[in-house]
Amino acid sequence: MTSEVTVRWLGTNAWEVTGNGATVLVDPYVSRTYTGATKPGQFDPETPIAIDEAAIDEHIGAADSILITHAHFDHIADVPYVAERTGATVLGTETHLNLLRAMGAPAEQLSLVAGGELYQFEGYAVEVFRSSHGVTGKHKSLLFPGTRPGEAPRKPEKIKDLVEGGSLAYLVDFGGVSLYFNAVPSFHEQEVAGIRPTVLFMQGANRNYPDYEERLFAAVGSPPYVIPTHWDDYEEPLNEPAVDLFGGAALGEQVALHSPDSQFVLLDHLESFTIEG
Ligand SMILES: [Zn+2]
Repeated sequence: MTSEVTVRWLGTNAWEVTGNGATVLVDPYVSRTYTGATKPGQFDPETPIAIDEAAIDEHIGAADSILITHAHFDHIADVPYVAERTGATVLGTETHLNLLRAMGAPAEQLSLVAGGELYQFEGYAVEVFRSSHGVTGKHKSLLFPGTRPGEAPRKPEKIKDLVEGGSLAYLVDFGGVSLYFNAVPSFHEQEVAGIRPTVLFMQGANRNYPDYEERLFAAVGSPPYVIPTHWDDYEEPLNEPAVDLFGGAALGEQVALHSPDSQFVLLDHLESFTIEG
């Protein structure tokens, strides 16, 4: 089966993937609320959650599925609005979905996953993997840790209310072209070993993990394409060139070193790339 899949980067970890007449969104977040997160000493966890509907309408069109990797503000704050407007199915953990419910997302569109699921949609299949969020510092600290099991919590008002809620990774297979999202330094090596994506979306290095890039390339078989994600200063405008804050370009050196047969594709804000199957 031949297929053609186009990916477009919406900044942060937000991706639009189109193929076989279908559209899949990963962590669609374009509001880019200023929180100080990318400026040392400036981060304000009390920043109110604010969504920029005009930006969402400008950058996000139709969608069939929305895949949530975790529930931090720069991943899910826009999802209730996007889900409502598109009617897309939203995949996430119990916590992700409870937070989305609390923010008014359409309950009937929410699909609970935990890792291990393999679902067929019209034009593509989605396989779900468990993952872990990256940690920072000497004590391996996680930003806004925690879960919200059971009933939906009170409505999240501040960015600190959007707890991580577990992390997931996704393999999206259009038949001939497959894409693996949420390749983070704490990827679950044993669980993804053996998958063979056409395109690997991955984050830059993190000193809390040994040989991240080498181990990941080995686990997923040095894919034809490697695309860095979540490397921009996501509080700078999406309509301007990305500011490389988290090792986007540097990842290219790691690819050349450890996976030389892979093509490194560094996309700028709103840029697209088409993969032929
Ligand atoms: Zn996060």
